[in-house]
Amino acid sequence: MKQGSIGVTTENIFPVIKKFLYSDHEIFLRELVANAVDATQKIKALADSGEFKGELGDLTIHIEADSDAKTLKIIDNGLGMTEEEVNKYINQIAFSSAGEFLEKYKDQLSSIIGHFGLGFYSAFMVSKKVEIDTLSWKDGAEAVSWTCEGNPEYEMGKGTRTTRGTTITLHLDDEETEFAQRGKIEQLLKKYCKFMPVPIAFGKKQEWKDGKYVDTDKDNIINDVEPLWAKNPKDIKDEDYLKFYNYLYPGSEEPLFYIHLNVDYPFHLTGILYFPKIKDRIDVHTDKIQLYCNQMFVTDSVKNIVPEFLTLLHGVIDSPDIPLNVSRSYLQSDANVKKISGYITKKVADRLEEIFKNDREQFEKKWDNLKLFIEYGMLTDEKFCERAMKFFLLKNCDGKFFPVEDYTKAIETLQKDKDGRLVYLYATDKTEQYRHIEAAKNKGYDVLLMDCPLDPHFVSLLENKLENSSFARVDSDIIDNLIRKEDREKPQLSDSETDELNIIFNKVMPEGSHYLVGADNLGENGEPVVITQSEFMRRYRDMASVGGGMNFYGELPETYNITVNMENPLIKKMLEEKQDCCGKELTDIDARIAESEKARKEAEKANAQSSSDGDKEAGKTAETDATAETGTAAENVAELRDRRKDILEKFADGNTILHQVTGLALLSNGMLKGKALADFIRNSYEVVGKAFTK
Ligand code: ADP
Ligand code: MG
Repeated sequence: MKQGSIGVTTENIFPVIKKFLYSDHEIFLRELVANAVDATQKIKALADSGEFKGELGDLTIHIEADSDAKTLKIIDNGLGMTEEEVNKYINQIAFSSAGEFLEKYKDQLSSIIGHFGLGFYSAFMVSKKVEIDTLSWKDGAEAVSWTCEGNPEYEMGKGTRTTRGTTITLHLDDEETEFAQRGKIEQLLKKYCKFMPVPIAFGKKQEWKDGKYVDTDKDNIINDVEPLWAKNPKDIKDEDYLKFYNYLYPGSEEPLFYIHLNVDYPFHLTGILYFPKIKDRIDVHTDKIQLYCNQMFVTDSVKNIVPEFLTLLHGVIDSPDIPLNVSRSYLQSDANVKKISGYITKKVADRLEEIFKNDREQFEKKWDNLKLFIEYGMLTDEKFCERAMKFFLLKNCDGKFFPVEDYTKAIETLQKDKDGRLVYLYATDKTEQYRHIEAAKNKGYDVLLMDCPLDPHFVSLLENKLENSSFARVDSDIIDNLIRKEDREKPQLSDSETDELNIIFNKVMPEGSHYLVGADNLGENGEPVVITQSEFMRRYRDMASVGGGMNFYGELPETYNITVNMENPLIKKMLEEKQDCCGKELTDIDARIAESEKARKEAEKANAQSSSDGDKEAGKTAETDATAETGTAAENVAELRDRRKDILEKFADGNTILHQVTGLALLSNGMLKGKALADFIRNSYEVVGKAFTK
């Protein structure tokens, strides 16, 4: 029996291994099985090249868990190792590379360890003692045994294996005995090894006999050595893809489409990606793509490897060209990863365009479930956006679909405004905005339905992409203002009249929001009052609500536009009533305000003149006088304005028409709630009562 000390630079790597890797210790199994797979592939390669002339025999890898002995064995019939090789690969290289690895990645270990194992030495994460028993394929080789008890000392001697290959035996730590449990190992093998390219047997297949499960003599093979993505797409049927999806994600809803990825140059990558149904944000699951390296499971977090929007897809990607032994932040800048990411994006766009061109009916049918994904891609990936403009579908309120270009053509003649700008109208809620949609339709306009959570952002994107165009929600203004055909004649109101309207309407609107009151001529039959919310403000608020760094807008109070239709008989009547009740008083106040203002202006003028005069002393007294005079005038004006406001507000409070028309306008916008709604209904009954029970 030979003894030696392992050449490690790090003082003692075992405690380090255990400490750092504690949370992810289960990956030891993947590492050991991967080594067994490597050894098997190597002997096959030696046979192929003619270097190895013997029988390959059964190459199945066996895993044996013994919960009584607390051991786990990984047995392969691969190429084995000579004593010299154990010395070189296990004692020197494996140890020193493990040591280097730990030294290099100490700080970021926990973030990358799941993707890159420590190789053979990860066995010590769970074992107090590890044994290797190996027999090399080489002529005249003798079996070698190697034992190490989790410290830098090892023992080497004669082994017991009589057939080519390697047996690794783990004597599990007392806290790690779950790794000798059948159920645990089965679960881990399913997670990490289910597509490894060499058959892996875990115990025997069992059958139900005489009231219990008993072993049969058939090996329980846990993996599929030729997964679907490794096969030639020509040989695969649609149902195979669906079956495979179901195998990967049992119980999931059927995917919309799939793409088979297969590329050899300039990098190697295979895989299958599925488009899941996505309706809203609650539906979104990222981290559903599994990343493999030569059929060995690496991770199900593909962030930084594929563009973010593609993480919404499901499926598998297998590539030996994705560097896994580097930190995640480095990945993004890796040239290969960039190429891979670009390739996948292109493939996804290709596939969508193909379906769009060849099977429009299916494409439209699945559109609602695809839209969020495509919008997300277009908003975050410039290249994808360019491609997707060709197949993006706009849907109108009647449920009809149009490619963007076709839609533009369809509305071009009618929906251009007087400045030649094309206005796209859209609604976000067919029921709530019904009246506005109808108003637009009555003009012969078309209204799009934009009810997806990303639409507020997306509308802005389209505005950028489509030249000389703008988007407006149907309820953001009265329709004639949304698409202005010619300069309409607006009512000519004096400043004081405009101010009166402003005071009167603000008095009867619900508190907590801002209201901008304006007058317009909407015809005798037009509604008396129309409440709209400006496109700009509302869109930014919506964007803030789905995120995207615009919280500032989210915190501003709501602002509404109130358009008063001066041609409407009810408005006329209401203004008459105002005239009757307080017209005289108001005219009087207005005259006094005008007088005071005039006086103030004159004083200011005099002031300006005297200060330009040469005599300093005289100038000073004149200035003081002028200031005093303007001061009293201003006080006067402020007082008078307050009086005026009081009178108007009192009138507004008591005016039934005003309450009824604003109440109805609020009601039709869904803005009357709680007490305001109850008050409105009670008042309405009163009005109706008075009219019919006279
Ligand atoms: P890696 O697999 O990255 O080379 P490991 O630490 O996993 O690093 O293994 C170190 C070396 O030990 C391998 O390269 C291989 O030469 C040898 N080895 C490990 N396990 C086996 C095995 N089951 N059969 C033959 N050689 C093995
Ligand atoms: Mg290895």
